[in-house]
Amino acid sequence: METVLDSTQPLPVVVDNSKSRYSRLRPLSLGDVRLLDGVLESRRRVNREATLPSQYDHLEQTGRLDNFRRAAGKLDAPFRGVYFNDSDVYKWLEAAAWTLTSDPDPELERMMNAAIRKIEDAQQPDGYLNTYFTFEKASERWTDLTHKHELYCAGHLIQAAVAHHRATGSQRLLNVARRFADHICDTFGPEEEGKRLGTDGHEEIELALVELYRDTGDRTYLDQAQFFVDLRGHGLLGGRTYHGVHGLLGGREYHQDHKPLREMREMVGHAVRAIYLNAGAADLYAEMGDPTLLEALEQMWHNMTTRRMYVSGGIGSRYEDEAFGEDYELPNARAYAETCAAVGSVMWNWRMLTIDGDARYADLLEHTLYNAALPGLSLDGHSYFYQNPLSDSGAHRRSPWFGVACCPPNVARLLASLPGYLYGVSDHGIWVHLYAEGTAEVSLDNDRTVVLRQRTQYPWDGDVEIEVNGESEFGLMLRIPAWCEEGGAIEINGDPFDGSASPGSYAEIRRAWRAGDKVRLSLPMPVRCVECHPYVAENAGRVAIMRGPLLYCVEQVDNPGLDLRDIVLPAEASFSVQYRPDLLSGVAVLKTLGEIIPPDEKWRERLYRRARPRTDAPQDTTVEVTTIPYYAWANREPGPMRVWLRSRFPLR
Ligand SMILES: [Zn+2]
Repeated sequence: METVLDSTQPLPVVVDNSKSRYSRLRPLSLGDVRLLDGVLESRRRVNREATLPSQYDHLEQTGRLDNFRRAAGKLDAPFRGVYFNDSDVYKWLEAAAWTLTSDPDPELERMMNAAIRKIEDAQQPDGYLNTYFTFEKASERWTDLTHKHELYCAGHLIQAAVAHHRATGSQRLLNVARRFADHICDTFGPEEEGKRLGTDGHEEIELALVELYRDTGDRTYLDQAQFFVDLRGHGLLGGRTYHGVHGLLGGREYHQDHKPLREMREMVGHAVRAIYLNAGAADLYAEMGDPTLLEALEQMWHNMTTRRMYVSGGIGSRYEDEAFGEDYELPNARAYAETCAAVGSVMWNWRMLTIDGDARYADLLEHTLYNAALPGLSLDGHSYFYQNPLSDSGAHRRSPWFGVACCPPNVARLLASLPGYLYGVSDHGIWVHLYAEGTAEVSLDNDRTVVLRQRTQYPWDGDVEIEVNGESEFGLMLRIPAWCEEGGAIEINGDPFDGSASPGSYAEIRRAWRAGDKVRLSLPMPVRCVECHPYVAENAGRVAIMRGPLLYCVEQVDNPGLDLRDIVLPAEASFSVQYRPDLLSGVAVLKTLGEIIPPDEKWRERLYRRARPRTDAPQDTTVEVTTIPYYAWANREPGPMRVWLRSRFPLR
């Protein structure tokens, strides 16, 4: 038998801050939360049934698993792929492990154990493990920390190992990860201890080491994570640039090495690197409570959300360096908005949320999950976006795999761990962060266990019923999203709740609960036309359409014969909401009437002309315009897509 349960079975929680001194909220175990239906569960099911098996095939066919056989001396063949490809195997393993917590699957377990065996065999006698730096490259170990991602790969190994340990109880992969982590701790550290000053050009090791500390109780790993975070900003990285796929890469900002993290106030450089660093720094804060760390993270969050983030929640607006742009630099067609950066944003926001329970982090987590991470995976679960533009000619399509395949297994591990993001527990009681059909079994501080049953069609409508089963006094904290400007309406067993349910906060319902008590939460979901800060020039005079947590877009296939560029929405556009179970795995489409205003005749063969006050009157003819959730675009025949539509809303 491959999986051996040890006597102290750990709980399968994604981020185990249950003992973190500076965390307000504790997580629920993945095994205690069941998603039963709805958008999130259907995406998770596709991930389990289609994505994970097909990704394993890609890992085999592209040589990523063969690289481990080769490193173990069991295959006489050249290294294949890119030097950080091991990380794809590790992220897949993490996804597989989380999946097994709720859905036993012998075939998935067989694949997982086969991969783990190869990893065990490939580990070097001193604990080092990276299949690129073996044999002929062994002398190049740790010689190019800025570019070669050895600690990044180690971080993903550690995350996979912790997930595998928590999901199965087996210490097999954890033992591999600890040997490598010990080797890292022996190698890197203060020079006065005879160690090397060095950290990785691509962050990831930091959050992984904190989680390894949480899983093992070995404080060495936490100190090592702090060492790696503190080392940034001292010019060890990013002095050089190199040619990447999209031009010159590198530099100190690219690697978040331009200043110490505690002094950072803006999100800069490579977006995935930056967001992983911040997730790791939030983990450090949760353990150590250094206020200067939290202050920097809050300031960077403010900078990101008020100046450097797409309306989708996507981040990283430049192809060049896959990086954050300047303030308000948010091009739509040329948006980079890497799927990995969205996954990283979910990870960072989750950690910020658990530190202080501020609903703004849960709002952004939900928004990013639905509108920036989910678009990364096709509805059939077999192809992926790396970049997520907000307008397109029809040429940008998902790919079945990539040479640099960071995004596919990243979205897989997020979907596999989704149940872990729905709830939290604190001294106050039970926090409901996300709404979805399902159940949660919650152990309270008073040793009572309560089962919550959520019934809802969310995100298609905002009615949520929560049935409480169990008898105890506690606060039930329901998130009232900031988008719900009217505030939420709450009834308890049919009686109105007289507390506050204002947008952007948690409504606290504290009472002695009795089995069968029912809470009804109603979150009005009118369609919202959203405008953009005027400094984002290309969104001037345009609106994006949102309903509930979802961003919408127009796609050509639903609007045949229309040039999407000519659609102008009236200032008082009214929308109909129509749930279509047959369409795009079941979506609510929004329909409205729009004008079609093509450029007038005087624009023929001209790009510029003298400006005159606009005089065009409302058009007599209107056309029906159909919009679909942005996460579901590019799943049918190719054609133009747009998020931002021209509008008669006044410009300010
Ligand atoms: Zn990626």
